[in-house]
Amino acid sequence: MTIGVSFASGALIATLLIDRLDRPAVHTEPAVIATTGTSSPSVASRSGAVAPRATALEAAPPSMAEAISVLAKRDLEIPVRGMKRTDLRDTFNDARAIGRRHDAIDIMAPRGTEVLAVDDGTIAKLFTSKAGGLTIYQFDPTQAFSYYYAHLDRYVPGLAEHQPVRRGQLLGYVGSTGNASEDAPHLHFAIARLDTDHSWWKGDPINPYPLLSK
Ligand SMILES: [Zn+2]
Repeated sequence: MTIGVSFASGALIATLLIDRLDRPAVHTEPAVIATTGTSSPSVASRSGAVAPRATALEAAPPSMAEAISVLAKRDLEIPVRGMKRTDLRDTFNDARAIGRRHDAIDIMAPRGTEVLAVDDGTIAKLFTSKAGGLTIYQFDPTQAFSYYYAHLDRYVPGLAEHQPVRRGQLLGYVGSTGNASEDAPHLHFAIARLDTDHSWWKGDPINPYPLLSK
């Protein structure tokens, strides 16, 4: 694996920040990019093939507070059918591994309960990971945010990458794939503000709880 030593220390820190529970390891796809060039990693970095996080942040929206206020106006759908806003619990800051924050909320529901799109947008990636199991990454219509649905039992038949979806559309079903307990099926739901390169596997986490429970 060369990506870990590809960039200056800032990128190494970025890798640590990005890599968190239920997300695929950040080095998976950039490694492919890194092997396509013969130039040194630092040259590849300057060419913009892989934007170091520090650079991405310089061009990012002005503040996280502004990004959250944009989302607050969307009136996001509860992503689990039949769940009331008052039933939700804020588990965003829970520890899920040593030194790691959950950065998501878990919505407990019987296996097979319908999982719904919280917003309009596009299916950016259908991904299976060890931690998240069967997952969906949805981008919002402005491609500023990603919505992440994990531990799914299955997708709705026909769901495909690049497919446009509408708020409230059926995406899949609650399950316990990945590292969820079989006895406690739930939807692990996360929101991220995407970096300027719109990579589905990274971004800055936003707590979904205040946006869904209001
Ligand atoms: Zn979770």
